[in-house]
Amino acid sequence: MHELLARDLEHLPDLLGLTTDQAVRFLADLAERPVAHRTAPPGEGQGLPQAGLGLEKALAELARRWEPGLSASAGPRYLGFVTGGATPAGIAGDWLTAAYDQNVSSAGDSSASDLEKETVRYLRELVGLSEDHGGAFVSGATMSNTVGLAIAREWVGEQRGVQVSAAGLAALGRVTVLSGTPHSSVGKALSVLGLGRTALRTVATLPGREAVDVEALAAALAELDGAPAIVVANAGTVNTVDFDDLRAVAALRDRFPFWLHVDAAFGAFAALSPAHAHLTDGLDLADSVCVDLHKWLNVPYDAAVQFTRRRDLQTAVFHNESPYLGAPSPADPDFLHLTPENSRRLRALPAWLTLAAYGAAGHGEIVVRNAECAAALADTIAAGSAFRLLAPARLNVVCFTLADDPTPERLAALRAAVTDSGEAFLTPTVYAGVPALRAAFSNWRTTRADVTRVAMALATAAAGLD
Ligand SMILES: *Cc1c(COP(=O)(O)O)cnc(C)c1O
Repeated sequence: MHELLARDLEHLPDLLGLTTDQAVRFLADLAERPVAHRTAPPGEGQGLPQAGLGLEKALAELARRWEPGLSASAGPRYLGFVTGGATPAGIAGDWLTAAYDQNVSSAGDSSASDLEKETVRYLRELVGLSEDHGGAFVSGATMSNTVGLAIAREWVGEQRGVQVSAAGLAALGRVTVLSGTPHSSVGKALSVLGLGRTALRTVATLPGREAVDVEALAAALAELDGAPAIVVANAGTVNTVDFDDLRAVAALRDRFPFWLHVDAAFGAFAALSPAHAHLTDGLDLADSVCVDLHKWLNVPYDAAVQFTRRRDLQTAVFHNESPYLGAPSPADPDFLHLTPENSRRLRALPAWLTLAAYGAAGHGEIVVRNAECAAALADTIAAGSAFRLLAPARLNVVCFTLADDPTPERLAALRAAVTDSGEAFLTPTVYAGVPALRAAFSNWRTTRADVTRVAMALATAAAGLD
């Protein structure tokens, strides 16, 4: 064994202690360090280390060169995109995932697969899905949407008498995908899957809303003359967190043949808030569902779940049969037959541990509190004169713009000033043709005091505009 490896092995407890200290220092400062950097201090270039430093000195190098440029994206006032933090149990679960270093591709040598299955059952119950949905961990909502749409593609083939996974896309022909306000990752998924980005046809939404107009969707389906299609329903759009009427969309299957995929990346967590749970009504009727976990479950990157009612089609697409891996069991296929990966980390563990630690009640409190924070910021914006709300805060996102002259340049300057203040980080959008900002609340640490600080940072930045 190399002498540095031998030394680190001998001192492993102390070294993991130092690692803990470094993490604790970072986390202790998380709420007060600059929330984001527009130009992060670079970690000054260096060549490939030849001799190596040993872990203790390498940790010090990491802290010196790279830590200063890291954002506080896990902290309470990072409101860009939809970004969760990591609960104490989520962090601990991720550390132990690395320490255990299990390969959850197949059962038969470890309890790890069963732990993932138990976690999927927990999550299914948490967001209100029935036992008819099987689930598997993937790296994020983009991958969950991609896997769901791969199963949808196989289903369209089944309707047309073509096994796409065997015969290939050329045998399938064009497929139409309909959606009201799809997330950008749906286009990426369609590109990856060979269905093509232009397969996606956006359908009219309700007036002043991002939710699909179900009558317009019915009309678009009727135009297909009975050709099987894919509908992507949206349970939580990123700009205004609008929800399609999932029950009404699902009911259209009585009249038209389509696979119903629901992108509920963060919106599924509305089920945890009594005041918002109705928004997810009908989620269980979907054929496939995307739920992200590194957003509102507040586990570290990268984790999401892909749920589907058609495990058989999923296995047809993803199975990886070989003499050493065996054939998938139809009743209970190993995970390597269900997702793009073969070898897989025990990605479920942070989710398992945070649910074991805080339960549905603890995680429900996060969702309720985040929604209250969004409502409070929306109220502050509505009461002032500098900004204008572009939509009501339906759940956890506030979408707003400058009251006067909301040009792209002024919005960019506003956003830069907020970032430079170190107090908050928001991401831009264009909503109904108007340049805007979004403040998305999904961090377990955010409180009303943070909302006050964000509102002040916004007011100061607006006052400083030309
Ligand atoms: C964030 C998000 C995605 C993509 O999620 P990643 O985890 O970043 O891949 C997809 N759909 C919706 C609605 C989202 O909010």
